[in-house]
Amino acid sequence: MTEQTRDCRKAANTEYDAIIVGGGIYGVTLALEAGRRGLKTLLLEKGDFGEYTSFNSLKIVHGGLRYLQSLDLPRFKESITERSWFLRHFPRRVEPLPCLMPLYGRGMKRPAVFKIALWLNHLLSLERNKGLDANRVLPMGGIASIDETKKIFPLVNPKGLQGSALWYDACMPDSQLLIMDLLQYACETGTTALNYCQVTSITTGGGGGVKGVVATDRTTGENLEFRATTVINSCGPWSPETISGLLGEEKALYQPSLAWNVSFNRPSLSDHALAVQGPASGSRILFVTPWKGRIFAGCGHEPWLRNPEKPMPNEQQMNTFIGEVNDAVPGLKLGLSDVHRVFAGLLPTVEKGSNVLTKREVIIDHGAKGGPAGLYSIGGIKFTTARLVAEKIWGMVGGKNPAFLSKPAPMPVVRQSFYESGPMTTEAIAKLKAEDPTIVHLDDLLLRRSTLYEDADHNEMQRVAIALGLEEPEIAEEIARCTPKLQHLALEQK
Ligand SMILES: Cc1cc2nc3c(=O)[nH]c(=O)nc-3n(C[C@H](O)[C@H](O)[C@H](O)COP(=O)(O)OP(=O)(O)OC[C@H]3O[C@@H](n4cnc5c(N)ncnc54)[C@H](O)[C@@H]3O)c2cc1C
Repeated sequence: MTEQTRDCRKAANTEYDAIIVGGGIYGVTLALEAGRRGLKTLLLEKGDFGEYTSFNSLKIVHGGLRYLQSLDLPRFKESITERSWFLRHFPRRVEPLPCLMPLYGRGMKRPAVFKIALWLNHLLSLERNKGLDANRVLPMGGIASIDETKKIFPLVNPKGLQGSALWYDACMPDSQLLIMDLLQYACETGTTALNYCQVTSITTGGGGGVKGVVATDRTTGENLEFRATTVINSCGPWSPETISGLLGEEKALYQPSLAWNVSFNRPSLSDHALAVQGPASGSRILFVTPWKGRIFAGCGHEPWLRNPEKPMPNEQQMNTFIGEVNDAVPGLKLGLSDVHRVFAGLLPTVEKGSNVLTKREVIIDHGAKGGPAGLYSIGGIKFTTARLVAEKIWGMVGGKNPAFLSKPAPMPVVRQSFYESGPMTTEAIAKLKAEDPTIVHLDDLLLRRSTLYEDADHNEMQRVAIALGLEEPEIAEEIARCTPKLQHLALEQK
């Protein structure tokens, strides 16, 4: 835990091979892949690691079945490889997810078509289970009969049902702890990771190449300069803003749209993730997955033109979304009062004000476009493929600077972790706080280094705050800071 730190001054006195700006899944996997290549890397995060978009995914590690539909085989293969990577190296955090799509014979959604698609899915991913623990293996999938479908998904709309497509994907119920495990391993391989350290400018040297960044330690207000001749901007929705002082507007990088998932205070509908669609033509496919015993549904999706800090659907958008879920699962009758938590974030689109998603990640070598040499930006689109994108970026950097080209060290199977899911005693909280200097705020522990946020109420926040050693008025301040982050809409409305 030594280099997951808050020692900003020590980092400012060190020369790094590379600085990564932004500690979401893209920044963390960049750090991991840099560490595996023996690079000395500094990761700077303005809030806490994984706090924003990466916290709010649907928690599916996608195998890319949908890319088969458009015959996008490169994307399909990439997704399969990355899903296997996660299942192999993080078996405590990533597990198989059986999926079911009821079929009504509409368009291509016919059992005969899916039989071929699932067979292709199997044939093109024969290597998918290589090196996996037996309980992480993904079976072949196939067509389930009408009776089998009803057994798996009792609330399925029976009208016109012809059976269902059944396949296997993967999920990461505690994605926040997966990010922490990835970060911990990156730190073990030589990364220094600082949270609450906001980059305010990128500095350049005499030759026009990058020299480093200036950042503010948000816990003290101190401005510090950090040095490296390679800087990767992996700020997700903030990535255009991070480089705008130096390069102006970079339209291709990231134009945000709002996306969200909702957990409901209702028991999950099935132990399978359900891909469901309302009967009206033009209805979207929604995923209704089982998450910690609850219904977890996504994704709502709308254009977004406001700042990236607090993306959240409004009440009308939530009602429309809930209506879509109810249309797709007759008899469910969810309402706004059933909402347990909203997980909202931003996703990149093809143009400003649109909600048409970008199909591929965007990687920009600013030096090659007349900007400072050594500066790169990434606009990522999936949690699942972040590590692969990191590999691509280090390959790109290595093309210019052979020092970055060393062969990555083998990746271990990570079976132990500093962070645990489930309840935590007061003593366990105090111990974690003593061992992890990056726990600055109550929400750092509650939301990202444990699973306590799932059912946290005011009393639990108070208990954890006291266990962290806080006293009044800090306890009240931290609870006030944490409450909106819990995104506990159902409670707020009462
Ligand atoms: C609703 C929803 C559902 C999704 N579901 C899935 C899914 O099931 N499976 C999947 O694979 N993908 C999914 N995704 C996509 C996936 O979550 C994102 O692609 C991924 O999390 C993006 O990660 P990121 O690191 O680019 O961005 P972020 O996680 O936003 O990280 C960027 C970081 O940069 C930091 N930062 C910004 N400015 C600065 C600065 N100046 N200095 C320092 N730090 C800074 C921010 O604080 C932030 O932590 C989903 C996304 C959404 C929104």
